[in-house]
Amino acid sequence: MPSLTELHFLGGCKTIGSSAYLVKENDTSVLADFGASFNGHPTFPPMARPKNLTVALSHAHLDHSGGLPLLFTSGSASVYMTAITRDIIRVLLKDMLRLSQYFLPYEKLDVERLFRRIKIVNYKEPINLGNGITLTLYDAGHIPGSAAIHIQTPSREVLYTGDINTIDTQLQRAARIPTKTPDTIIMESTYALTAHENRQKIEEGFIEKTHETIDNDGIVLVPAFAVARAQEILCVLAKYKTSYPIYLDGMAREAARIFLRHPTFFRDYKLLKRALSQAEWVRNRRQRDRILKNPGLIVAPAGMLRGGTAAMYLSQIMDDPRSAVLMVGYQIPGTPGRDLLENGFFDYGIGPKRVKAKYQLFDFSSHAGKEQLLNLGGSFSNASHIFTVHGEAEACESLATTLHKQYGQNAQVAENGQKITLTD
Ligand SMILES: [Zn+2]
Repeated sequence: MPSLTELHFLGGCKTIGSSAYLVKENDTSVLADFGASFNGHPTFPPMARPKNLTVALSHAHLDHSGGLPLLFTSGSASVYMTAITRDIIRVLLKDMLRLSQYFLPYEKLDVERLFRRIKIVNYKEPINLGNGITLTLYDAGHIPGSAAIHIQTPSREVLYTGDINTIDTQLQRAARIPTKTPDTIIMESTYALTAHENRQKIEEGFIEKTHETIDNDGIVLVPAFAVARAQEILCVLAKYKTSYPIYLDGMAREAARIFLRHPTFFRDYKLLKRALSQAEWVRNRRQRDRILKNPGLIVAPAGMLRGGTAAMYLSQIMDDPRSAVLMVGYQIPGTPGRDLLENGFFDYGIGPKRVKAKYQLFDFSSHAGKEQLLNLGGSFSNASHIFTVHGEAEACESLATTLHKQYGQNAQVAENGQKITLTD
């Protein structure tokens, strides 16, 4: 009897969070990602511990990696990922343990067990898992170390895009993944409804606003995700040869130190080095008090102003109309960052207060936008099935429908808990 491939959509369907997709054939299973969701307390996909299990991680973000330690409360699967991804999840999982320890179904010991099972793999290096199954990671261009996961079985060629970016940024090259041979695609849909503005225009707008604010004696605060976005902003500032004082604070420094150890994951490592060295790395309270006295630019997490040093800085500059808060990533509804952009208020523990500093959003996304997702989906020339995942329901539906209409692809929205046996 010919072998059949099964797909189990454990999480990350019609939503962003808890990504987990299992590919099974001939009693061998590959689990791509095992992430967490953060609506209040962290939640996780249902457990998956079939026999002969191998795990592959697309990238370090916790909505893809945050559940991995759960797999090691018992069990001993190998977990494949890139070297820089391993170093970044060490920091992110430690932070998650610190912030949510009482609500987590795993503990430090399980995280340590996970790290003992990690196997480092380079892009494009096929790993033979036995039973005719091969696993290969390809550069997905989303954050340093991010990968699309390619699973070759005796009967199918499955490609899970992970989070993907198909344009160059200052930090990274565009994704380079196979599009001509995979027959089954699991594809992210985050920005299926949103067209990104031209990247260079965004950079120029950001630089112009920065210069205008500092020339006017103001402080520019850039709340940015610690991993990748903070460093991308520093690279943009270096590219445009900004000569104003620049400061880097919070966990973004730790991520930057990791980046410097992995030169091959960057588009222009010299630019990254220059960008990181032209910023002053803030270490203590005295330094913070000093830099708040003069015009300059501060890059600090958290990216959506949920705590971190960014929230502290904002509390100090919010009454100054000369200063500006430049948001550089998507703001989830309900976060302080979204509240600021929509209502002009910020609450630093004493109730919402109107922000007199200027504020503006610059869309420095690390995901493919609407047009890029459609181009990518259309470029899978051997696809018999495309499953859209990792997006709000409307985005997943729009991507599937448009791929069918425009390119004739057999695309459908995957559902959490769905099991599919590929027979055609
Ligand atoms: Zn991501």
